[in-house]
Amino acid sequence: MVDNLTELKSNPEPSQTKPTTNPLSNIKEEDLIECPSCSGKLLTQAHMYTKISAIMSGTGKPEIGYIPGPLICLSCGKILEEEEIKKQMGVDKPSGLIMP
Ligand SMILES: [Zn+2]
Repeated sequence: MVDNLTELKSNPEPSQTKPTTNPLSNIKEEDLIECPSCSGKLLTQAHMYTKISAIMSGTGKPEIGYIPGPLICLSCGKILEEEEIKKQMGVDKPSGLIMP
């Protein structure tokens, strides 16, 4: 028991053995979702805010809640529909086209 504790403490840097697995570290420009109108790549996520009455909030006070909304292009203000994002991700490709 005591031996285990000593070993853990003397371990220099446990983070050194961890490989860097951040999927965003080697992102390619063509992987970015872009605005279909202006090809802008700076997008922001909108939120819809909702009033929560004091009875529903559980804290006894009225609160503000939010629901995640669509992506919006910061350059031209276009709302990116979910269909558009799926198209760019290749989700909706008809499987027949990929047949060898
Ligand atoms: Zn745009």
